[in-house]
Amino acid sequence: MLNIAIDGHVGSGKSTLASELAKILNLKMLNTGEIYRSIACYFKEMNMEINEENIKKFVSNLNIEISFDSGEQVVYVNNKCFKGKLRSEEISMLTSKISPFLVVREKVLKLQRDFAKKNDCVMEGRDIGTVVLPNADFKFFVTASEFVRAQRRYDQLKDKTNAPSFEEILEDLRQRDYNDEHRKVAPLKPAFDSIILDTSDMTLAQTVEYCCDIIKNKK
Ligand code: C5P
Repeated sequence: MLNIAIDGHVGSGKSTLASELAKILNLKMLNTGEIYRSIACYFKEMNMEINEENIKKFVSNLNIEISFDSGEQVVYVNNKCFKGKLRSEEISMLTSKISPFLVVREKVLKLQRDFAKKNDCVMEGRDIGTVVLPNADFKFFVTASEFVRAQRRYDQLKDKTNAPSFEEILEDLRQRDYNDEHRKVAPLKPAFDSIILDTSDMTLAQTVEYCCDIIKNKK
């Protein structure tokens, strides 16, 4: 199996890069952030306080399934799909609060590894190169300056109703990166053998070409 791991900061463009690579190289793509986000949506419905005991109880009753609908990933948590609700600011922040719990990570870990065993894939997240697939064939760690990342997100959202301000976006990405980098279990960091890509001054096309060259030359 060919496994490519892509990790990186909030808004670094890792999902877009992963989906381009998947198309060009004919691989399946697993967006692991959407799995954690779906779990957070379900947790929100349970109306529970965030603490170790509640999270343990919550996770013990979780069944997560992933399917692909015309190539698009769909996550089901106990048969419920939260497509359309995954990307709100509230869910982003809730996800970054529940994703540090070991029981949550263990639940998602098995799913991710099973997927990589069965599929030639590109998997993107925060701990793919370090924890989930330490033996991935290629590992990329994508970043960019926080101002560039906030600007990219602002440009994507600015025409939507209730779009957040640039300052709100910047604050959100700082907070989430801080949470992801400072948690005890599986913190966000490059694996020792990751190729680090700072895309502050790169276009998407340049980033994709750079990765494809590396993959094609080593394959
Ligand atoms: O990538 P995305 O922004 O959708 O991820 C949402 C959140 O899910 C992250 O901020 C992080 O807390 C969590 N996450 C994680 N490990 C992953 C992917 C996402 O902890 N592999």
